[in-house]
Amino acid sequence: VAPGAAVLRLQEVKQVFGGLTALEAVTFDLKHGEVLGLMGPNGAGKSTLLNAISGVTNATSGTIEFFGERTERLESSAVSTRGIARTFQTVRLFWDMTVLENLLVGGHSRLAGFVPKFLSPFPFVRKSERFTVEEAEEVLAFVDAWECRDRRASSLDAYQQRKVEIARALMTRPRVLLLDEPAAGLNESETRDLSTLIARIREHGIDVILIEHDMDLLMGVSDRIVVLDHGVIIADGTPAEIRKNPAVLEAYLGS
Ligand code: ADP
Ligand code: MG
Repeated sequence: VAPGAAVLRLQEVKQVFGGLTALEAVTFDLKHGEVLGLMGPNGAGKSTLLNAISGVTNATSGTIEFFGERTERLESSAVSTRGIARTFQTVRLFWDMTVLENLLVGGHSRLAGFVPKFLSPFPFVRKSERFTVEEAEEVLAFVDAWECRDRRASSLDAYQQRKVEIARALMTRPRVLLLDEPAAGLNESETRDLSTLIARIREHGIDVILIEHDMDLLMGVSDRIVVLDHGVIIADGTPAEIRKNPAVLEAYLGS
């Protein structure tokens, strides 16, 4: 994939919950080589958007294309198999398991949606069904949590939990990683460390959508920022453009 090519393409994505329209005709591309920041006041629809992309929920209408294939009706396991991984706003781990076990279990979701390579338009669909301990240790070293490998997930501090959750997502060898407020609950130095981790993930050719309330982190690590307010994109531009955008300022002041 060439840098700048559209990896993920959302067109007119709408998400209705009962009487509430959480997303209204959301249209944007994630381009290869990009960290795309997603910001907006509480309740703007940011998590809802990641849910729609990752197949946790299916959009009410609109289309989502991943490398040209429509994914908006797929289940989350099938989306994961195609190469989109995510973390959640509240960390999700198996708390009674060790860190290594958490990473090895993550592989089963990959297996569930496994597509034989010859049937798939995606050359990068993994052929092996099960993750190895060596792979898990390699990914843990990458996120700098290797020393936690035999610890119970519940005994980890907030940043270690977050890194293990990111490691679990990386085990699936994703092409795209969706991060929902990964710096929530972290102190300043952990947040700075997280931003270097996100940069290293991008250097590995993984494209990132990052939801973040910490503006320094978001502005520092994002190439482009999309701003949502009440389910509508009110701005889309570079961090410098977003910083001085009056509509963005107003959305935050008015919320
Ligand atoms: P954000 O992540 O930007 O803070 P959310 O995407 O979590 O916002 O929520 C957007 C709106 O959609 C909120 O009003 C929220 O209450 C509503 N919402 C989100 N998920 C559901 C759901 N599963 N059922 C009903 N309403 C939901
Ligand atoms: Mg949210």
